[in-house]
Amino acid sequence: MMGLRPIIHKSCYLPKVKILHTISTAMVDAIKSEFPFFTANPNLVYLDSAATALKPQRVIDALALYNAHESVNVHRGVYRLSQRATDTVESVRQKTAAFLSTEKTATAVFTRGTTEGINLLAHVLTHPNSRLADFFPAFAHIRPPAILMSQSEHHANIVPWQIAARERGYQLLYIPVDSDGKFAVPENFLETIAAAYSLRIIALGLESNVTGIIHDLMPYREWAAKHGAVFIVDAAQAVVHVPERVRALKPDFSVFSAHKLFGATGVGAVVGAKNVLDACTVYQGGGGMINTVHEATSTYLEAPTKFEAGTQAIGEIYALGKALDFALEHAQTLRTHEGDLRAYADAKLSKTGIRIFGLSAYERSPIYSFEIQGVHAHDTGTLLDEQDICVRAGHHCCQLLMRALGVSATARASFSLYNTRDDVDRLTQGIEYVKKIFRK
Ligand code: PMP
Repeated sequence: MMGLRPIIHKSCYLPKVKILHTISTAMVDAIKSEFPFFTANPNLVYLDSAATALKPQRVIDALALYNAHESVNVHRGVYRLSQRATDTVESVRQKTAAFLSTEKTATAVFTRGTTEGINLLAHVLTHPNSRLADFFPAFAHIRPPAILMSQSEHHANIVPWQIAARERGYQLLYIPVDSDGKFAVPENFLETIAAAYSLRIIALGLESNVTGIIHDLMPYREWAAKHGAVFIVDAAQAVVHVPERVRALKPDFSVFSAHKLFGATGVGAVVGAKNVLDACTVYQGGGGMINTVHEATSTYLEAPTKFEAGTQAIGEIYALGKALDFALEHAQTLRTHEGDLRAYADAKLSKTGIRIFGLSAYERSPIYSFEIQGVHAHDTGTLLDEQDICVRAGHHCCQLLMRALGVSATARASFSLYNTRDDVDRLTQGIEYVKKIFRK
């Protein structure tokens, strides 16, 4: 049965978001005023949204509303308040699936976040009890099974596959990256792999959390569709900057965390086709996912519920609904404003003489990993903090990428909707101050 193969339209890879030309300071100020973080921390320049985005008031209110007024469990309650909470959770599920997929068959499995989502997929997709060959013919091939990732993946999209591969006899393969973080694909790369392996799973991050590079995943998507492999997008970063790209790729599964999308921590989702999820074995066992339980065995509910053992993060799911509304409402503004910030920051930061990773890439989001020559990234981060500038320093859970870049750590400044050109100026001054302290 090949009914699930996606139809790929090359042209839909181009962004569909209409670009406005300028975003006024008043507009950014109005958006900023939705974030109480800035009232509590008026002097801080927050440049760590790639680690977690700030939360607008409506998201905070939704979480509070659940805990204060509707703090009941879902799905099993016969009373009206429980039914209302269940309806809210189910409507957020639909909204979540529609945010990342245009397929009618798409559903969302709630998880604790991207990490748990990829662990779920790694477990069920490589498990012999999952009946995947009907959907993905590569699962019927007898050559040694393999999984393809890239060297720029976050550890969340590497380690779960390593664990599954060790247990299930899969070969781990990587798209190499160059010293600027771009894919450096050898000639006939996929053909060479296909001659030796049954490439069953391709799991790739669309946007790097280190460099902000938006990789061109369409060739891998098309290859997977043609050869019957599962195509998974780690959308942890892309979900906020380029969700339309995720939709255009029509992945079999996409995975994200709400907290990078202005939502709460502790919740995220795997988005994929319900009938494929139904063909998969279960992940965790417990209450809420069973149909009948006997001494020796149990039967399970259908997807997505069969993957949601135990009580979900209900308040956080309420909040995710509001975060999605916020992201949809501001989609055009976000795209335009981030483009403006990136152009401004590219010019300003380049003048400081620091090494910025990924600048040569065709397409990027406003995430800057940089190195001030001769200064450790942690010192850079600490000295910037002294000036009330919050950046991240370290390997960013991307040790394979760090090796390819030839460094052990970088400092990273990541911008979002609520950042301004003033923040770029403050960062630039902060970098000059670090250089002065270290006499660079
Ligand atoms: N993948 C990417 C690309 C990420 O940026 C992150 C978070 N930094 C993750 C996966 C893991 O997300 P989480 O910690 O929310 O599970």
